[in-house]
Amino acid sequence: MVTTEQSSARLPATASREPPRDVDPAATAFFLDFDGTLAGIAHEPGAVRVKPRVTEALGRLAAAANGALAIVSGRDIAQVDALLAPLRLPVGGVHGLERRDAAGRLQRVAVDAALAERVGSRVAALVARNPGLLREVKPGSVALHYRKRPELAGTCMELARRLADEDGRIELLRGRKVVELKFARRSKADAIAGFMAEPPFAGRKPLFAGDDVTDEDGFAEVVRRGGMAIKIGDGETAAAFRFAGIDAFHDWLAAMAGLDDAEGTQ
Ligand SMILES: [Mg+2]
Repeated sequence: MVTTEQSSARLPATASREPPRDVDPAATAFFLDFDGTLAGIAHEPGAVRVKPRVTEALGRLAAAANGALAIVSGRDIAQVDALLAPLRLPVGGVHGLERRDAAGRLQRVAVDAALAERVGSRVAALVARNPGLLREVKPGSVALHYRKRPELAGTCMELARRLADEDGRIELLRGRKVVELKFARRSKADAIAGFMAEPPFAGRKPLFAGDDVTDEDGFAEVVRRGGMAIKIGDGETAAAFRFAGIDAFHDWLAAMAGLDDAEGTQ
C-alpha cells in the first residue's frame, strides 16, 4: 500500500488495516452495502446472488444485534428483499431515497413523476441505439449500466450530464460501470442518519461496510458519529479499515455472527 502525501491537499485516509474481530453486536448498529459487499459484482444487476453462508451470517448477526442491522444500497428495497429472502431486514434503498425502518414502516422521498418519465425515456432511447447498455428504473432514480459496453462510458456520462444540466433537481451518482440519475438529493448518509435516530439503532456505535465511491457519504457519516467505516477493495476512502476483497469481508462477517470459520467460503 503506497500512501501519497500532499502538502496542502487533505486527502482521505488510505485505509489498510482490517477491522478488529471483537466488535460487540449488542452495542453496534450495522449498516451494510449490498453489491460488491454482500454479493459479488455480476455483469447484470439481476444476475447477482448471495451465498447461503452470507445470508445465514446476516440473520444471526441481526439477531445478536437485536435487530440493529440494515442494508444500505443503491438497489431498491424490493430487490434487496428478493435477494436476501427469507430474510427481511431494515433497508435504506436507492441511495437514501427510500427507507424501511426496523418496525417495517416505509418512507419514500416524493419525486416528480413527469421528470422521472422524461429522463427514463431519454435513457431508454440511448439504450435502444446501443445494445448491451442497460436501463434500470427504480423508485426515485434511473440507472444507466454500461458494464457490458465499457467503451461507452463517455457517451453515457454525456447524456447524464446533459439531462442534469436541463433540470437542477437531478443529481448524478457515478458508481462501478454505472451512472445513476436521482430525482432528489439524498445519500446513503441520510439513510444511516434516519436509522440512527430510531430504535434499535439509536445509541449504538455505527458500523458501515461498502465497496464503492457511492459509499463514501456513508463512511463520512459513521466516522462523524465515532463509528467504524470499512472499505472493501481498492481506492481512496474516508474509511479507517479495509478488506482486500469480498471473501475476506465475508469471513469477518461469519466470525462476527459466530459461524464456524472452518466452513470456509462456499
Ligand atoms: Mg457496492
